[in-house]
Amino acid sequence: MVHLTVDIGGKPGVNCRGFCAYCYFKHAKDVPPFGCRYCLPFKKGCDYCSRGVKEEYADFYSLKEVADNFLADLQSVTGDITRITISGGGDPSCYPEFKSLMEILGSLGVPLHIGYTSGKGFDEPETADFLIANNLTEISFTVFAADPALRAKYMHDPTPEASLAVLEKLAAKIDVYAAIVILPGVNDGEVLEETLSWLENVGVKGVILMRFANGEEQGLILANSPILEGQRMHTAEEFRALVAEAAARHPNLRLSGTPLFDPLFDSPFAIRKEEELLSHLPRVTKKVSVVTGAVAAPYIAEILAKCGGDPSMVVPVKKEIACLMTIDDLKALDASQLADVVIIPGRAFVHDAEAETVLGRQVIRGPEMLTADGETSMGMDEAGVLTMEMEGFAALIQMINLYGA
Ligand code: SF4
Repeated sequence: MVHLTVDIGGKPGVNCRGFCAYCYFKHAKDVPPFGCRYCLPFKKGCDYCSRGVKEEYADFYSLKEVADNFLADLQSVTGDITRITISGGGDPSCYPEFKSLMEILGSLGVPLHIGYTSGKGFDEPETADFLIANNLTEISFTVFAADPALRAKYMHDPTPEASLAVLEKLAAKIDVYAAIVILPGVNDGEVLEETLSWLENVGVKGVILMRFANGEEQGLILANSPILEGQRMHTAEEFRALVAEAAARHPNLRLSGTPLFDPLFDSPFAIRKEEELLSHLPRVTKKVSVVTGAVAAPYIAEILAKCGGDPSMVVPVKKEIACLMTIDDLKALDASQLADVVIIPGRAFVHDAEAETVLGRQVIRGPEMLTADGETSMGMDEAGVLTMEMEGFAALIQMINLYGA
């Protein structure tokens, strides 16, 4: 199984026919590097945390650049290529040489997958036939609403009817996954119900509902809040309830939400209810402070308690999403209340040395993943989700027992 990715470059918003109203990258500032798990111990800032996280490409790559890079990748793989994914910072549907690119890749006879598109660049329904003829087998498509007027207003799609017609035609023949960012009072409630019914009728394979973020605590770390002045947000629990209700109304639709939750597996942290699996995890015998995001904290505390640990060792920061924790979150903690050793999320945007200075104690980077959010679990089965959680928590508990007091 060899999967290749074709990177077309591009800048979110800029290479998308303009910003969607809710786009995370809108107002993104050129903030200094955060520090991250890839940084060298003596240097805060690496390519990933200073450039990659902002998806900072100058523009789309030219077709020649895309083809050259792809050929280089092709030469370095052994075995048959089973899938090619087209992705980039910009929107593939807006790539100026999209048709030529599809024809080149389509001629290879390998299933093609478009990792993410808003579809704003699709101006004719017939584009769907062209894509299918060129071996497209899977696409993730942002919808916002089945109502073209709302799509035009909030996504700035100049041809919303055509884009939706492309989605409809594709869904009849290939695997289409729809993504919807939910703006409370705009595309939730009745609008969401109509959109989900439409998506179900046209035959999409799955829908991911994404909570709109408008504040730094929800994860806007690029000095880019608010995205929409005065726009209300759902709390994580309100959003969980919205996802649960939507899933109950559409049992034939594979539906999940992020940050909470995937009703099919009751994830993230599905393992908390699996007593048999929990009994196979190591027992927690020591104590550290496990600093994590506000959404994950109660789940992690529950699981560690079921493994014999003290749930009070889990310390939430104000940032809701653990992977988007920055040094400011650590600065806001009362360090005097922490244990001598602190474990931070594996993916936190923090430089290890700076974290130790700020907290005045040993800081260990924890496992990369303890669970799968709704976006990730959408493409997994239950065994995959539970295995990921078992591995993550086994690693975390081993760290606690190794470094703790
Ligand atoms: S298509 Fe995606 S990346 Fe582009 S502006 Fe809209 S939300 Fe942002």
